[in-house]
Amino acid sequence: MNCVICNEVITADPYGWEGGCNAEPIRKGKCCHDCDQTVVIPYRIKLMLNEKTKEGTDNVGNSKTKSG
Ligand SMILES: [Zn+2]
Repeated sequence: MNCVICNEVITADPYGWEGGCNAEPIRKGKCCHDCDQTVVIPYRIKLMLNEKTKEGTDNVGNSKTKSG
């Protein structure tokens, strides 16, 4: 099986798992552990942050100080 991102043969990751990682949302299919760490996961985090900032920015918590 080859990685759909870098096209290298997928070998076992540090945990011994040889099935590869889910390459979505970058691509459909499986990617190697390397691409998962360096490409897919950062991209997923980016998407998540984007979704958070897209809507509901009315109520930004700005009550940090507490009297007491
Ligand atoms: Zn790869």
